[in-house]
Parts: sequence; C-alpha cells; structure tokens
Amino acid sequence: MPDFMSTLMDRAPRREARSASAELSTDDQVEAVLPASGWRAMVRGARGCCPRCGQSRLFRRFLKPIDQCGRCGQDWSLQRADDFPAYVSIFVTGHLMAPIIIALINADWLSTAALGAVVVTLSLALLLATLQPAKGAIIALQWWFGMHGFKRS
Ligand SMILES: [Zn+2]
Repeated sequence: MPDFMSTLMDRAPRREARSASAELSTDDQVEAVLPASGWRAMVRGARGCCPRCGQSRLFRRFLKPIDQCGRCGQDWSLQRADDFPAYVSIFVTGHLMAPIIIALINADWLSTAALGAVVVTLSLALLLATLQPAKGAIIALQWWFGMHGFKRS
C-alpha cells in the first residue's frame, strides 16, 4: 500500500519515530506535531496552514507561499506546484458546474444572456475559491513525499 494511503493506525509507530528525529531543537522553533498521514497534511495545506506543524499560515498572499514557517522552521521555498493547482481547480469547477449548466440549459424561463452571466459568475467564484486550497494541498503533498528538494523528516 502506498505511504499516502495508510491510515492513522498504520502510521502510528512511524510517526513517533519521525517526531523523535525531528530537528527542532532551536529556541525560536516550536516542536511540530507532524501530520499522521498524507491526507492530514493535505487538509492542513488546503486550509492554508503549514502542512508540517498546522499552526502557522502557509500563504503570505493569495497564491504566494511563505518562504519558511515561523513556528516549525520548515522551508517552503522548495515547493514547485507550478500549474497543477490550476488544473485541479479547473477539474473540480468543471465537475461541479456541469450538472448546474445542464439544469440551467433545460430551464425555459432563463434567457441566454442570463444563463451566461450565471455560469460565468459561478465558474469564476468556484475557480477562485478552490485555487488556494488546491495549491496548499499540492504543496503538502510534495512535502509529504519529499519531492523537489523537500527532505522527509
Ligand atoms: Zn510549520
């Protein structure tokens, strides 16, 4: 089973080993409570929190992650999410909007201009709402798997 798919019970002994070996001995860094699974790290990232400690913000601007976590010291400048968050956001938006568009097209009471306005507005709102969580989750995923210069701690 891939490491990402393991449950909390599967990972418990390994998590303790990770916590014990974490290099967080400096005075200004707080002992990080590492996520129990890749899913947990992704949820932290999707919520805009540091995937490693979950106690600090991950983004300093809308899509600009912080360089280093102020709580646990994790270096986030190593992330390379690139265009993948946009692809995820488009995928989610498309699948959520498809039934709405089909339902609205079948509505006789809605003009074409009104249909276009509703669809464009909802699509843009969904894209903007899902873009930052998608980026946070992907950064967390890259960190969890030790991709792009991230070291597995
Ligand atoms: Zn942190």
